[in-house]
Amino acid sequence: MADVSPQPSRSRDLDKLLLRPGNLVGPRFEPGPEMRDDLQTYARVLVVGAGGLGCELLKDLALTGFRNLEVIDMDRIEVTNLNRQFLFRLEDVGKPKAEVAAKRVMERISGVNIVPHFCRIEDKDISFYNDFNIIALGLDSIEARSYINSVACSFLEYDSDDNPREETIKPMVDGGTEGFKGHARVILPGITPCFECTIWLFPPQVKFPLCTLAETPRTAAHCIEYAHLIKWNEVHGATAFDPDNPEHMKWVYDEALKRAELFGIPGVTYSLTQGVVKNIIPAIASTNAIISAACALETLKIATECSKTLSNYLTYNGTQGVHTKVTEFERDKECLVCGPGVLIEVEPSVTLQKVISQLLTSEPLR
Ligand SMILES: [Zn+2]
Repeated sequence: MADVSPQPSRSRDLDKLLLRPGNLVGPRFEPGPEMRDDLQTYARVLVVGAGGLGCELLKDLALTGFRNLEVIDMDRIEVTNLNRQFLFRLEDVGKPKAEVAAKRVMERISGVNIVPHFCRIEDKDISFYNDFNIIALGLDSIEARSYINSVACSFLEYDSDDNPREETIKPMVDGGTEGFKGHARVILPGITPCFECTIWLFPPQVKFPLCTLAETPRTAAHCIEYAHLIKWNEVHGATAFDPDNPEHMKWVYDEALKRAELFGIPGVTYSLTQGVVKNIIPAIASTNAIISAACALETLKIATECSKTLSNYLTYNGTQGVHTKVTEFERDKECLVCGPGVLIEVEPSVTLQKVISQLLTSEPLR
């Protein structure tokens, strides 16, 4: 069948960014088709995580023109993933997320090559991570972010004036979502704060004071935590509460309901009980889509310098209306992960004890 109207080029929107000059471009940006070709040929991006955010990131990066992608994830697909991890189907349950996600995106977007890695992030050599120009993080754990951050920062070298050597900077783009809230940030080790510089951004889990639970409950969550933390021990003593045991969960739910009725508090349900006890926050597909879009755009900006990157932390909140804000956080000068450190030179014959005392007192070694 003959084409009635010519199909618009898939790179039509990308071309507007890459083929035209601009006022916000970086010093290495040279508009033209070569820029687009280079992006496709040379830019290598690793996506860490193939869950809710990872699926979005892979699709967005592939549609943005990146053709050399790899994805790493240790999880297998579960039924409960299917409402938002849109690359997976019912028949994929039990299969590795990374492998199915890579296959699906390659089926739909011609020209892109995605190499999946079904393993733990710690299983890869450090050199594996050094092969990528940019690392995009779609993770839900602080520990995993911390690990990748420490790996990326380990490539960083400083010159004798404690300025970072540009060629050793491994850029990261980090996305995170929790319910209707999310963030996207750009981490350029040595230039912008690393994950560890701003670790305080992740507050400890919300805990209720025991006295509130025991005496003045005001919310459904208070009633649930009373049943979970206080009543369970009173009644069951030595038997530890197992959140994966449905009988245990039902018992806590029943007790929470009794307590809620006593204090006239509405809202205790079985699923809320599960959510509070297991600290589950429901994942929202649209939050993942919005945060991933921001991350993919930042990845494009880092790769091409077609515009200045986010400086340096975007928060999104869709709880009531839509609220976004960009905050420029500062590096922690004392950060042990991304800082230049202090150079100490010692004789090969010096004992460990002397090195330790040198570190503690900063007295010269003899
Ligand atoms: Zn740092």
